Amino acid sequence: MPTFDNVDIQACVDIEFEVFCARCGAGLCGNSDTRSSYNRGCPQVTVEPCDKCISNSKDEGYDEGYEKGQQDAKEEFSNDN
Ligand SMILES: [Zn+2]
Repeated sequence: MPTFDNVDIQACVDIEFEVFCARCGAGLCGNSDTRSSYNRGCPQVTVEPCDKCISNSKDEGYDEGYEKGQQDAKEEFSNDN
C-alpha cells in the first residue's frame, strides 16, 4: 500500500484549562485571559496576580515595617541615654 510519510497536520481546537496560584493554590480562572501574540501568532495566557497572595504580601510588609520601626525606635532611645 502506498503511504505518505511525515505529513504535517494543522488542526484548530478549543482548549479549556484551569489556572491556579502556584504559591497558595487559589483558583485564578477569573483572573486569567487568553490572546494571540501580536507578531508570532502564538497562543498566550495573561494572569492577574493572586489577590490572596497580594494581601498576604502586604501584611508581611506591614509587619516588617512595624518591626523595623520598633527596632529603630529602640536604637534611637538607647542612643539618647
Ligand atoms: Zn496565591
